[in-house]
Amino acid sequence: MTEIERHSYDVVVIGAGGAGLRAAIEARLQGKKTAIISKSLFGKAHTVMAEGGAAAAMGNVNANDNWQVHFRDTMRGGKFLNSWRMAELHAKEAPERIWELELWGALFDRTKDGKISQRNFGGHEYPRLAHVGDRTGLELIRTAQQKIVALQQEDHAEHGDYEARLKVWAETTITRLLKDGDRICGAFGYVRETGKFVVFEAPAVVLATGGIGKAFKVTSNSWEYTGDGHALALQAGATLLNMEFVQFHPTGMVWPPSVKGILVTESVRGDRGVLKNSEGKRFMFDYIPEVFKDKYATTPEEGDRWYDDPDNNRRPPELLPRDEVARAINSEVKAGRGSPHGGVFLTVVDRMPGGAAEIVRRLPSMHHQFKELADVDITKEPMEVGPTCHYVMGGVEVDPDTAAAKVPGLFAAGEVAGGMHGSNRLGGNSLSDLLVFGRRAGLGASEYVDALDARPAVPDEIVDAATAEALAPFEREGGENPYAVHAELQTTMNELVGIIRKEEELRQALEALQKLRERVARVSVEPVAVNDGRGYHPGWHLALDLRNMLLVSEAVAKAALERQESRGGHTRDDYPQMSAEWRKVNLVCRLAGDPDDPHVELTRQPMPPMRADLLGLFETDELKKYLTAEELPADVVAPG
Ligand code: FAD
Repeated sequence: MTEIERHSYDVVVIGAGGAGLRAAIEARLQGKKTAIISKSLFGKAHTVMAEGGAAAAMGNVNANDNWQVHFRDTMRGGKFLNSWRMAELHAKEAPERIWELELWGALFDRTKDGKISQRNFGGHEYPRLAHVGDRTGLELIRTAQQKIVALQQEDHAEHGDYEARLKVWAETTITRLLKDGDRICGAFGYVRETGKFVVFEAPAVVLATGGIGKAFKVTSNSWEYTGDGHALALQAGATLLNMEFVQFHPTGMVWPPSVKGILVTESVRGDRGVLKNSEGKRFMFDYIPEVFKDKYATTPEEGDRWYDDPDNNRRPPELLPRDEVARAINSEVKAGRGSPHGGVFLTVVDRMPGGAAEIVRRLPSMHHQFKELADVDITKEPMEVGPTCHYVMGGVEVDPDTAAAKVPGLFAAGEVAGGMHGSNRLGGNSLSDLLVFGRRAGLGASEYVDALDARPAVPDEIVDAATAEALAPFEREGGENPYAVHAELQTTMNELVGIIRKEEELRQALEALQKLRERVARVSVEPVAVNDGRGYHPGWHLALDLRNMLLVSEAVAKAALERQESRGGHTRDDYPQMSAEWRKVNLVCRLAGDPDDPHVELTRQPMPPMRADLLGLFETDELKKYLTAEELPADVVAPG
């Protein structure tokens, strides 16, 4: 019989990035016995890799900034498809979450007068990103971990046990959410090192598992990001929102091949970096879309002046939202004006007043990354960059205030949750999102637990089923190699559901995914020599992750086929315009059909109308660019 450990908690948080840690801290502060579960080492999450900073309208560098401006920028960046309530909560609460982080020990860069420094980033009207050089995510995680240790020390003083109310399960992967009837009763997973199975009994589970990038071939994401949280939510009966919106960051490394996709932070452009084509032209001036025409400089001279005098000049178009820049790079490469390795040039050479020393000081990680990985000295030579799959805006449908998903007891925060960023996320809005909604998810889960009459039970049958599912790849002999299937899945998604999409290719992708589904069902692995054959077995781990990537890919491809417009991170070659009618539509994915072989089913759900006071924050002329006639406030004349 397979040995299974059981542990009991009030709240189980799956994921130890910024959202997971902030949720767990909150649950523990609410007195809940909490577990943090992390697929990789504690401290290694995408949040650590976040370079640019956390967006919060503190107004430290430009006093004109406030939550209303941040809200407007976020809605514009998301092309008005955002959950406006999430965007409102985020803009209002982000400054408080940054100051709280500082109170817990975070050391942000300072302005000359000693305030937290804030830097420019694409789509943000004012300098808004609180940062620590280009290592902001690392500081966020370091601070949250320090807070966790402090709480564990308090628990030790009170209970004689550091882990009495907050325990970290590093290198432990969850493969199933467990349900008692219609509500959550825990989670099932394995410890990577030993392969041992663990049941986490808990009435509330917070998903904070991050993104889906590993479903694509060229990505800034690392190995853990296989859409687990998205797939776990679907399988538990929850819904996903607007999965067609995948952000291709404009600047990933393109050379050498072994590092293709690794991120080149937007801070490079925020700190005066410019994009050039093979003819040496700053091409972004040719790609300012109509909706942003009045907000961006039309000449390089004006764009350059903006860095020192933002009140009297417009920002350079290199700082347009990411979707715009990624599409522009794609077009330049397609037109034959790309760099030798299929990207374009990004350069900071001679762009900073303090010369090479300032480049190294402001962009230490980028300087190091290019020197080590590509033998390029960015103080002397341009970087070669191109789009890379970076972030998923689509995610678990949640209540904006409590982060509750559609299944009782399930909560989601951070990248795995949908809605906040609409069709395109602004850089820097993720780190603040993690803090704002991580806290809300921890609070929501705690309040849910407090309101329960009785804890749900964990029925043996569902544990048996989860165990059988996890062991299945060992039971099949001579089946498919998980690495080969993964490579094909990634190529399919990159080539057919990538940055520019069209109906015919999306249909081909769905056919390919159907064939891959049959192959995933046949994936097999051999036992290794230790721990019942399951100790540190990457092939087995991938075999289990494949199911998640497949489900998520199906959700992205189906939603991409359904949405017949171009908006944010979803560009349809055959429907190049943004449609006001489609803005009213959220595409919702759920699982349907045979429970043993379910498919993603899509429904259209109306977007709740924006509150009048929030609509009032925009110029009426701007609203007309996004909304249908009937959505416009009564005193606004509809476009002809
Ligand atoms: P993550 O930090 O991604 O953490 C997810 C956690 O879930 C990990 O601990 C992982 O191990 C765990 N996990 C996943 N699946 C399972 C499972 N099945 N079982 C158990 N655990 C699981 N955003 C910004 O705002 N500013 C930036 O400057 C910025 N720069 C970035 C740079 C890079 C290179 C990348 C990749 C992203 C960047 N982003 C940035 C985006 C941002 O970092 C992420 O969106 C954000 O950190 C996601 O945080 P999260 O807490 O939702 O999840």
